[in-house]
Amino acid sequence: MRSSKQAEMYAKNKFENIYHAPERCSKCDIMLEYNGLGEYKCPKCAAIYKDDFGRVRDYLDEHRGATVTEIATQTGVPETLITRMLREERVEVAEGSKTFLTCEACGKPIRSGYYCSDCAKIAAAAKKKREKEKEIFDRKDLIRGLGKAMKEDDGKRRFDR
Ligand SMILES: [Zn+2]
Ligand SMILES: [Zn+2]
Repeated sequence: MRSSKQAEMYAKNKFENIYHAPERCSKCDIMLEYNGLGEYKCPKCAAIYKDDFGRVRDYLDEHRGATVTEIATQTGVPETLITRMLREERVEVAEGSKTFLTCEACGKPIRSGYYCSDCAKIAAAAKKKREKEKEIFDRKDLIRGLGKAMKEDDGKRRFDR
């Protein structure tokens, strides 16, 4: 795992069991231990099992630049699930490979995630602008609130006098 965000994502997907995690050793019928990166091990006979994520990772390790269709055919993991893994940046397309992910905004080929670097920049700028607008709005609200408080204060003072 490269980041806590990825680890969190994996834990969530594992919980939902969308990667079809194996549970028991088919020989010993005991619970498997998780080795990380989609790999499971039987504590008794040391047999190794993989979930969908482990299989895709393995396939990509050996076949850099494989297309989603190719991985799906070879591993039996559905294309939508493979795309999801790539989008969540849990597996990455090798540099210079036949790219098989596209930017959701402009359709340019990307190696992982949802946006190309240009669209990510635009998205980040738009987010900043929204935050700035919210800040101005909050400040206006604050000034309005202050004005109201001052008026109330005035009234009170007048009343006191
Ligand atoms: Zn076993
Ligand atoms: Zn783009």
